[in-house]
Amino acid sequence: MNPTPKMQAAFEAFDKRIKAWQPYPGARQLCATCDEPTERCEEDGIYTEDGEGPLCVECWHKTPEWILENAEVRHGAKDAELD
Ligand SMILES: [Zn+2]
Repeated sequence: MNPTPKMQAAFEAFDKRIKAWQPYPGARQLCATCDEPTERCEEDGIYTEDGEGPLCVECWHKTPEWILENAEVRHGAKDAELD
């Protein structure tokens, strides 16, 4: 049975809605901390070394892990200036 033009239009509208609902490739992720979309997909999701996540960039920047890492970088640059 061939789909009628009306059925075809309904399928296309449905397909469009599904694609609009999932603008990112792969499953859409929500941040484990604030429930906001992480703007990332499964392949490049952000997880801490303890396996916490996925996190959005904002919450990732609030983790002790990230702060420590970036504090070290800043500290290193400061030391370099003093030398
Ligand atoms: Zn978050």
